[in-house]
Amino acid sequence: MKIQGAHTLVCGAGGFIGGHLVNSLYAAGAASVRAVDVKPIDEWYQVNKKADNSVLDLQLREACMEAAAGTDAVCQLAADMGGMGFIENNKALCMLSVLTNTHMLVAAREHGVKRFFYSSSACVYNGEKQTSYDVIPLKEEDAYPALPEDGYGWEKLFSERMCRHYREDFGLDSRVARFHNVYGPFGTWDGGREKAPAAIIRKVLQAKVTGKHEIEIWGDGHQTRSFMYIDDCTKGILDIFHSNILEPINLGTSELVTINQLVDLVEDIAQIKLKRNYNLSAPRGVNGRNSDNTLIRKYLNWEPSISLREGMAKTYEWIEQQMLAGVASK
Ligand code: NAD
Repeated sequence: MKIQGAHTLVCGAGGFIGGHLVNSLYAAGAASVRAVDVKPIDEWYQVNKKADNSVLDLQLREACMEAAAGTDAVCQLAADMGGMGFIENNKALCMLSVLTNTHMLVAAREHGVKRFFYSSSACVYNGEKQTSYDVIPLKEEDAYPALPEDGYGWEKLFSERMCRHYREDFGLDSRVARFHNVYGPFGTWDGGREKAPAAIIRKVLQAKVTGKHEIEIWGDGHQTRSFMYIDDCTKGILDIFHSNILEPINLGTSELVTINQLVDLVEDIAQIKLKRNYNLSAPRGVNGRNSDNTLIRKYLNWEPSISLREGMAKTYEWIEQQMLAGVASK
């Protein structure tokens, strides 16, 4: 099925990726977009005036029924989530997103939705394969035997399987992407749910503004990760949506950096050097993680490739504007 001409539903549209996705769906020719989030609309990162924007708690079955009615395609991104600081301290809240995913599948089937996209995460991967800084990139098959991130990762893995069984048992045509660390403008940059790229940018900007030239880094700075710019993420979502890829697939860059290198990069953008204080008891996640992109290259002849420098420079500029305007993150 094609997005062009389709009536689409974006769940979690008030969030970072959902907000960008609504715009991308219109750009791809969607006939209509229903944008739904549990947050009041004035707290959404982006509000597209063309969309049918509504506030619903999608943990509830009736709300999912209302949201799915009259749509052909569902992009299910709603989740109670954040960076490591949130995930490690809110496992039950993270797992309650199972209600949203399950009820959305039930509602999509009931309303004859033709295609269902689900945003899974690299947190589904077996932790034992992520103990070394010097990582072997994760292939899709590395999710099993299962030992995902406690709480958040287990919920994602369970919901991936629900998507699969809904396809196999009920013919609901599902697609699943495993996002690896997405960043960019119009996302969380303070308040406790922010992820490493935005948190580091904020800390560097604060150091610049206050003149206190120090930065706290969670962990020893040697942890390795890859970070995908939002424009690559939305392109990947649409391409996977349109594809015949039936199994969960990685959506991330394979440009691996240490957290120290990420700080170097932001210091360079800000033209500043800071004294680094390592907080070894802060949440820090796995030691190393990267995306093996063999499968996505094979299926789509494409992989996310916007460089970290380019993406971080744009994100820096946006967070700086927000801070200068005195706007708190939503
Ligand atoms: P986000 O927190 O900015 O957006 C999620 C949105 O879902 C929020 O606006 C939230 O209010 C909404 N939501 C939560 N519970 C809801 C409910 N009961 N009903 C309706 N809406 C509800 O997060 P994001 O970064 O945009 O992530 C989107 C999706 O991508 C999530 O499923 C997340 O797990 C997944 N993901 C994101 C990343 C990343 O790096 N950002 C990485 C891996 C996976």
